[in-house]
Amino acid sequence: MQKVDKPKRPLFFYYLIVLAVIVILNVFLFPNLIEDQVKEVDYGTFLSMLDEKQVQIVQLSDDEIYFVGKDEQMYSTTTFLDLNLVDRLQAAGCKFGQVKQKEMNPLLSMLISLILPMAIFILIGQLLSRSLMKRMGGSGMQNAMSFGKSNAKVYVASETGIKFHDVAGEDEAKEALQEIVDFLHSPQKYQEIGAKMPKGALLVGPPGTGKTLLAKAVAGEAEVPFFSISGSEFVEMFVGMGAAKVRDLFKQANEKAPCIVFIDEIDTIGKKRDTQGMNGNDEREQTLNQLLTEMDGFDGSKGVVILAATNRPESLDPALLRPGRFDRRIPVELPDLQGREAILKVHAKKIRLSDSVDFNAIARAASGASGAELANMVNEAALRAVRDGRKYVTQADLEESIEVVIAGYQKKNKVLSDKERLIVSYHEIGHALVAALQSHSAPVTKITIIPRTSGALGYTMQVDEQEHNLLSKEELENKIATFTGGRVAEELVFHSITTGASNDIEQATKLARGMITRYGMSEKFGMVALETVTGMYMGGDTSLACAADTAADIDDMVVALVKQQYEKATELISSNMGKLHELAKYLYEKETITGEEFMNILTAKAPQAAEE
Ligand code: ADP
Ligand code: MG
Ligand code: ZN
Repeated sequence: MQKVDKPKRPLFFYYLIVLAVIVILNVFLFPNLIEDQVKEVDYGTFLSMLDEKQVQIVQLSDDEIYFVGKDEQMYSTTTFLDLNLVDRLQAAGCKFGQVKQKEMNPLLSMLISLILPMAIFILIGQLLSRSLMKRMGGSGMQNAMSFGKSNAKVYVASETGIKFHDVAGEDEAKEALQEIVDFLHSPQKYQEIGAKMPKGALLVGPPGTGKTLLAKAVAGEAEVPFFSISGSEFVEMFVGMGAAKVRDLFKQANEKAPCIVFIDEIDTIGKKRDTQGMNGNDEREQTLNQLLTEMDGFDGSKGVVILAATNRPESLDPALLRPGRFDRRIPVELPDLQGREAILKVHAKKIRLSDSVDFNAIARAASGASGAELANMVNEAALRAVRDGRKYVTQADLEESIEVVIAGYQKKNKVLSDKERLIVSYHEIGHALVAALQSHSAPVTKITIIPRTSGALGYTMQVDEQEHNLLSKEELENKIATFTGGRVAEELVFHSITTGASNDIEQATKLARGMITRYGMSEKFGMVALETVTGMYMGGDTSLACAADTAADIDDMVVALVKQQYEKATELISSNMGKLHELAKYLYEKETITGEEFMNILTAKAPQAAEE
């Protein structure tokens, strides 16, 4: 809509050309329309010309005679009732024939003089606008011209260049998609047996796990046209446009079959339709309805496969998920330890590494990271190496980049007072001590009091030896105790508390709440679900599903649970005050210590004990 007025001048120019064409046509092709070339003479002249044998061809009509003279000139004259005329003509040796062109059929003449130029005009206009659009490279102009057409980009296999081996991990998803690729390659194999390919497959998983990447890889592998469109592109300014786009997309796809249609972020149009009907979004509903209709309408055996991706599957309209539409659901989950290692390796191929990089260690430290975050980490490591003027990325770069992605950049210019730094030191050692003194806690790998851009003034990193898929009640309780450890240390040493524990409090509360409402770990409620997760992949929001009294009970129990763990942490730390002071002083001086240093000091014989 930006440049609609641009073609105005050229168009006016072509008006002139067309006008000229019409004039030329009239002059040369239909001359008698412009001037009458027939010369009129009186009857006497005609007779004398006859006598002089000046007349070649004669044509008689009711009251007129047309004739051609020796000079090739055309004449006409009006006759009287001349009974001897024919004899005279024969005597003069005239031939009878067609002289005057027949009066044109009025309809035909109108056709030629009006409609033909108009047709030519329209034709030229069409050709021009088309070549114009090409020249403008399909920018604003094309958008304006193709209202309601889908902007689906057509990818051909070679264009994306992404293959399955570019997607690390996610083996189940790849396997499921491989089948679709296979079907597009050799559909007859499936038809022989009578197997029908699912019409659509839905990729679901948290953001950044490679759903879009997988779809592109399918296009790369399948070597068929690939229509890719994002759900938000269907949301149009005008009502009905979205539906028109869907229609157009499927029309194109049907013409190009076999092919793949990929709808990214389908939740933007596929949201559950309102049952109340009050604040319904008509436009979105129309678009969704059109999508449903199109999916039902096309013939799956033709080889059109529809892929879609979303990270909020629970919000999708159930009609989309029923058999015959997106009946295959392909989970694309956060990568496990192996997957993380593989993803790191795929992205590390693009950078120069020093030889001694332990990907397994990095992958373990990056627990819970998505593919996109891991890709980002590798890039951050490379950037760090460049900043430090090195030619290779080292293990330390990668370790630091994990922290960057988790906690933000180091905030070098943030000035903490000595007192504050001391408090942060005690706080962090408090966490680490509680973690280390319990049996079911992941080992501490790093403690630092260098502030980060995320706002953290320091943090304690714990990395599990192996991946944990199940957490026991003890482990969860220990985690809560560890979260409270920071505050406990502050209180025991300084007899005052600070705001530094806000994030700890939030996390401890979330865990405690989950234990009671979702994991069935309370005596009182047992295995009753009191909360349901609404955004499984989007931060795990929950909604309460219980009576008000019960909600109050839950709150009481959460408070009790956290308090209980706080007391446990207090006990653990107060019986190790010597170590707390020693470790906190050490951290205060060194700013960052490794898990090893921490354990060495912790397990060394207490100095007081040695003196005795
Ligand atoms: P999603 O669509 O699931 O939100 P994307 O497919 O856009 O995520 O992934 C973003 C980026 O993260 C990709 O371009 C890729 O660099 C990286 N990535 C994510 N998952 C993987 C994976 N399994 N293997 C390799 N790279 C990945
Ligand atoms: Mg995506
Ligand atoms: Zn803390």
